[in-house]
Amino acid sequence: MTEFVDGWFLGHVLGEGAYGEVKLVVNKSTGEAVAMKMVDVEKHPDARQTVRKETAIHRMLSNPNIVQYFGKRSEPNMEYMFLEYASGGELFDRIEPDIGMPMGEAQKYFRQLISGVEYLHSRGVAHRDLKPENLLLDDNDNLKISDFGLATIYRIQGKERLLEKKCGTLPYVAPEVLVRAYHAEPADVWSCGIILVALLAGELPWDQPLAECPEYIAWKYGKYMSLTPWKKLDNSSLSLIRKILADSSSARYKISDIKQHRWFVTSCARDCVDGQKQAWAEDESLRNVCLSQPEFPGMESISATEFNLTERPTFSFSQPAHVEDLLLCTQLQAMTQPSQQNSFQRLVRRMTRFFVKIEYQDIVKRLMRYCEKENYVFRVNEFGVVTISTTDRRKMPLVFKVNLIEMDANILVDFRLSKGCGLEFKRAFLKIRGAMEDVIVKSSVVYSKNQ
Ligand code: ATP
Repeated sequence: MTEFVDGWFLGHVLGEGAYGEVKLVVNKSTGEAVAMKMVDVEKHPDARQTVRKETAIHRMLSNPNIVQYFGKRSEPNMEYMFLEYASGGELFDRIEPDIGMPMGEAQKYFRQLISGVEYLHSRGVAHRDLKPENLLLDDNDNLKISDFGLATIYRIQGKERLLEKKCGTLPYVAPEVLVRAYHAEPADVWSCGIILVALLAGELPWDQPLAECPEYIAWKYGKYMSLTPWKKLDNSSLSLIRKILADSSSARYKISDIKQHRWFVTSCARDCVDGQKQAWAEDESLRNVCLSQPEFPGMESISATEFNLTERPTFSFSQPAHVEDLLLCTQLQAMTQPSQQNSFQRLVRRMTRFFVKIEYQDIVKRLMRYCEKENYVFRVNEFGVVTISTTDRRKMPLVFKVNLIEMDANILVDFRLSKGCGLEFKRAFLKIRGAMEDVIVKSSVVYSKNQ
């Protein structure tokens, strides 16, 4: 499946990358769905070399916790990469800001992350940009490591080289990466430790692991117990994180150590010592509140033709723009996963969306007023997609898009991150959701315990 040929048709946009979009492509006769990452090499001439490296590495890999690479196609203006379709969205979407997720869930994802990273390292490959935004989920909620744009080979025929390129995403990057040549494996392991903090606490511990960052210095010198996020964690989690986020890369836990730690080996739901955390992990109702997606009574009964797509046929939804595509996707899922969610249920699976009971024009106006109040820069394009740009608490750019999808009598307001931190994006989303509360269809709102 290395060629993009007749019979494969374009579906909806799955996400946005630095150099172009990622789109769903579906084979009309077999129903097979593939993600197609597009890189505009006319706009970004340097990207061709990056794509060459990314694909050369990605094609070496085959593991259940890594997005499978299928092939690529080069055209004068565009490079296309064909990848396994991870239909469950991004891991950050499952993290509730400042709360995290139930420990049992965090443990499952962390184990799968470690399994994927262990495989990568066994092939001599360092990822170098591990973060929840690059961890996707498949239909069965299995974690898939994606985005090999910064990956590199650090070991060939048993011979390891030190890495020098300072790269990654600052809050996830290991301290040594910023100051000297570094070993690949401990640097990736560090990022896994920060991801674990994000999963368990819903926040990142520092902006960057440097002397000028007081939160990092407090951690480094063991003066952190009264501080967040550490005070939210139980002893067992903290013990593991302490060993992973060891400043010295040689003292840092290796993957083999992590796999033997009690937090990793012992099922959290059964054996966590901390009472509060234990209750949290086991409380099924809370699990539903925090993690499950909104449920919409009667959703199953909506048919594709009931979507009011005809009024704006070129409307750029996050879902297929044409009813035909939508129908095909529905058939595809009915064919391949009869017992699982259909595409309409999947439509509401992500947490960063809600339904409103007001007219399309009115919700656009409400969003615009909100943006003005928050000093967000915004743009509404001819397809009705609102692009919002701001800076987050770390003064980093945060860009997200709001798609408005007419569904029966209501409008689905769907938020998607374009650029920036997933957790900050979710924070922004929760604030907007709070401000729109009076017009949100009540059954579509999922509140977490602390809200
Ligand atoms: P950046 O460098 O900005 O992180 P990128 O150009 O490397 O982005 P990706 O991170 O690979 O692009 O993809 C961008 C988004 O597209 C992802 O966050 C995800 O939402 C979506 N996406 C990418 N690959 C897949 C896939 N295989 N299945 C489903 N969605 C995907």
